Amino acid sequence: MDQTLNAFAMAQQQLHAVADLMGLESDVTSVLQMPKRELTVHFPVRMRDGNIQTFTGYRVHHNLTRGPAKGGIRYHPATDIDEVRALAFWMTIKCAVVNIPFGGAKGGVVCDPTKLNTDELERLTRRYTSEIAILLGPDKDIPAPDMGTNGQTMAWILDTYSALKGTTVPAVVTGKPIAVGGSEGRVEATGRGVVTITREVLRSLNMQLPGATIAVQGYGNVGSAAAVLFHLSGAKVEAVSDVNGAIYRKGGIDIIALQDYVRINKSVVGFPDAEPIPADDVLTMQVDVLVPAALQHVLTADNANQVKAKVVVEGANGPTTPDADVILRNKGVTVVPDVLANAGGVTVSYFEWVQGLQNFFWTESEVNTRLEQILIRAYQQVHRAAQHHKVDLRMGAYIVGVGRVAEAIKSMGIYP
Ligand code: NAD
Repeated sequence: MDQTLNAFAMAQQQLHAVADLMGLESDVTSVLQMPKRELTVHFPVRMRDGNIQTFTGYRVHHNLTRGPAKGGIRYHPATDIDEVRALAFWMTIKCAVVNIPFGGAKGGVVCDPTKLNTDELERLTRRYTSEIAILLGPDKDIPAPDMGTNGQTMAWILDTYSALKGTTVPAVVTGKPIAVGGSEGRVEATGRGVVTITREVLRSLNMQLPGATIAVQGYGNVGSAAAVLFHLSGAKVEAVSDVNGAIYRKGGIDIIALQDYVRINKSVVGFPDAEPIPADDVLTMQVDVLVPAALQHVLTADNANQVKAKVVVEGANGPTTPDADVILRNKGVTVVPDVLANAGGVTVSYFEWVQGLQNFFWTESEVNTRLEQILIRAYQQVHRAAQHHKVDLRMGAYIVGVGRVAEAIKSMGIYP
């Protein structure tokens, strides 16, 4: 794989760039450049035809100096140890940027969840959970959903872990259904965060969200929730895509009608009140705001020059390669980095964990108000750091995030 497209190489490159800028001590950089621990598991699952298939899964803890490990679990055919390492690194930075008391982690299973039926997914999830259970616990490692997993997956993890412990342990996962201790507002939290941060960034650019035109790549948990909230905020979501294709409507798609359509048809493709367009066109649309909310490495040196949006808000993790970042910066495009733009999810995961530990649950408006406070404060700190150092928002976010982790590492010292 091209080094610039290896997610972990990209994460390390970002770390070294900020370390140089901040004059970070080399011993701190050396702690942060590799994960603290990595577990690879190969485990058998009985498939619907009675055969046994062996799957490979990972759980990586990047840095736990600021608190227990926190990070999603991804089910995707192309996931590998380097992707999981990169995602764990970004979680360390993200938790520090929004200043919540967690370290960074991530998990993944190499599988195509769309090809597995519910029983297979349940057996795979339960066995994977039992294999990584030595790492898990409400004060050790708290998984959450990521690509290809959802609240149901978290409920299976919770049940399996609780069965192993002999007692129900709701705070061992977040992003679980409300019925088993989930938080109000968690499902939409990442999308809500994308919209909140977009509004603040537009304000800094003397633009406003109502009337702004938007394109969203990916119509899953993050992309669809963001699209709905953009629409309800008066913005015009003109283009959306998913793995099957893309649709466009000048003046804005009726996102509420699209939600009903996707619920039935499981794709945005074929939505009657919009025209089909090639999937990749979403990235190069003439819009104010582009939200990549699907995969990593979608904005590269090959297409960054054609991006026409004024602002790119990274709903996905790692959608912009370092080469593309430079091109976009030189073009004057404001890129809002993933570690800030999609931090709404982990922030409400933090609220869910706190509620689970206290067995005291908050209303949706309490959740949303606190989310907004944390994200606006984080954006202001990142914006200030970026202006002070005359760098872009990604570097500003890394200065804030790496700075907090470095301070924690230095306070703790190195054992022994
Ligand atoms: P998801 O599985 O719910 O949805 C992914 C969406 O992307 C689907 O609509 C899928 O069809 C689409 N997609 C896949 N390949 C595509 C392609 N080539 N072109 C266009 N669309 C494509 O996943 P999600 O939870 O929404 O996560 C999306 C991204 O956001 C990931 O990078 C994830 O790490 C990141 N993220 C998610 C959360 C969360 O709370 N779920 C939090 C932070 C970051």
